[in-house]
Amino acid sequence: MNKIHVDFKKCVDCGACTAVCNPKALSLDPISWALIFDRQKCTGCKLCIKACPLRAIKLSAKISSAAT
Ligand code: SF4
Ligand code: SF4
Repeated sequence: MNKIHVDFKKCVDCGACTAVCNPKALSLDPISWALIFDRQKCTGCKLCIKACPLRAIKLSAKISSAAT
């Protein structure tokens, strides 16, 4: 299954990706508001990739190499 990779160095915890992630694989920590990615829940729908204004989310390395 295609999954995504979050570059936490670019992420500013804006939450835009969490709003489009139906299985809640992406969420904001209720205390620190830091982004959390639960790889087990990710269905690979890629909606979060387009939603991120900072392009901090990409397909995992294995998949992106296949796409190029
Ligand atoms: S690819 Fe889809 S399911 Fe996976 S984290 Fe992004 S929005 Fe959520
Ligand atoms: S949309 Fe991008 S910058 Fe915003 S929380 Fe998600 S990964 Fe981080």
